Amino acid sequence: MRYISTRGSADHARSFSDILLAGLAPDGGLYLPESYPVLTAGDLEELRGVLENEGYAALAARVLALFIDDIPVEDLSAITARAYRTPAFSDPAIVPVSHLPGGLWIAHLSNGPTAAFKDMAMQLLGELFEYELGRRGDWLTIVGATSGDTGSSAEYALRGRPGLSVVMLTPAGRMTAFQRAQMFSLLDENIVNVAVDGVFDDCQDLVKAVNMDPAFKAAWHIGAVNSINWARLLAQVVYYVATWLRVTSAIAEGGAEEPAGREEPRALDEAPLPRVNVVVPSGNFGNVCAAHIARQMGVPLGALVVATNENDVLDEFFRTGVYRPRSSAQTLATSSPSMDISKASNFERFVFDLLGRDAERTAGLFGDALARDGFFDLSETPEFAALREDFGFVSGASSHSDRLEEIRRTEDEDAYLIDPHTADGVHVARALAEGLDGPLVVMETALPVKFAETILEATGHMPPVPARFEGVEGGAQRLVEMPNDAAALRALIEERVKQLD
Ligand SMILES: *Cc1c(COP(=O)(O)O)cnc(C)c1O
Repeated sequence: MRYISTRGSADHARSFSDILLAGLAPDGGLYLPESYPVLTAGDLEELRGVLENEGYAALAARVLALFIDDIPVEDLSAITARAYRTPAFSDPAIVPVSHLPGGLWIAHLSNGPTAAFKDMAMQLLGELFEYELGRRGDWLTIVGATSGDTGSSAEYALRGRPGLSVVMLTPAGRMTAFQRAQMFSLLDENIVNVAVDGVFDDCQDLVKAVNMDPAFKAAWHIGAVNSINWARLLAQVVYYVATWLRVTSAIAEGGAEEPAGREEPRALDEAPLPRVNVVVPSGNFGNVCAAHIARQMGVPLGALVVATNENDVLDEFFRTGVYRPRSSAQTLATSSPSMDISKASNFERFVFDLLGRDAERTAGLFGDALARDGFFDLSETPEFAALREDFGFVSGASSHSDRLEEIRRTEDEDAYLIDPHTADGVHVARALAEGLDGPLVVMETALPVKFAETILEATGHMPPVPARFEGVEGGAQRLVEMPNDAAALRALIEERVKQLD
């Protein structure tokens, strides 16, 4: 399997291991496999057996092997077995599904070490990075900026790993108490938490500044774990396969009364497969892009529902055909903060597929039109007209009061407490449910414990603290304070990171 850029530069196709440690392609595009492997009905039934008999990690190895041909299968199996296990994940099913009394399904993506779905990708990425760096005798300094979930998830995935250091910038005093405690209580030698006297955008600008200094970047082997990394997306494809298998198994076993959706047409000799709709709380379009890829592979997903908060740049596109990224000044701070994005960094991957993989047109939109006009408009194109039919996408948005109402209602009617991001999904799911055939699965992207203030506002009580997080806010914490200054960041890296060669 070779990988190409969405902007199709002359740069020839590369292998998985080559792009694992890379960010953008040299032409500014994003990497995608040159084609998606296809799962037949027979393949899916075989994978059902793998999931039921050998578990999630074995399923992950099987799916990954379809995309990775330069890591031996035995090694992939060992890698996924280390990435997806208890007690790092609180449930041996890794991604269990449940059926709420009101009819919605929940796919639980938040059982990892930081209680957010980013762990699903990061835990695998940590194993893959260690494996590949070891194989090359290389080392890496990850320099990142975070306003919450991504940074802690990366640190829990990379702590204590040989050849890897993490320097993570956070805006001083702007994360929730739980998020701060989670990150700053990591005392591993290779983790450096930094509180910058500034806001999240300042942190991002500092990261950019060290990345734009080629000599410094090379000397310190500076890399990133950002959301455009292909391996992160690939890790997420696995749980869409698992979700489809688990929901259809539960329905077939009569554990749920609801009939599965309209049946997917198949070749005559194959049994038709029931379709499942997924609802995805979205920001950078990473999670739902993985759903798109699974659907392209033949996993019978019906609608892919994109749910946004007030930062509705994606909802706007799917409703109108106009993609108009916002400035950071136009990006609102909401009560589902991990979805507060101004531009959706993975969206280019989907548009490349939507345009029939026309790299020149994709480059024209993302390279030229956005820089020139600040938006592009596909509303008059046949591709946009066929978007729902061919790709399954629909969308909706929610507000702060919608989230509070959904948190309250789901607790009252379904006896289940959801976090504010999942609430965005539940709100849009309920709004669109009537027009959709078949089971509706909301992808749960975080646990309520991370967002206590909003839960308190919605329900009048604090969220329960799962046993594995008890006491996290009481322990020792370590962080370095730093002015908003690139020279200070360079000095800090020189002082705190071990140069290994
Ligand atoms: C990152 C995140 C999202 C958004 O996911 P994308 O892949 O960026 O669309 C939603 N919810 C939570 C809790 C997150 O951490």
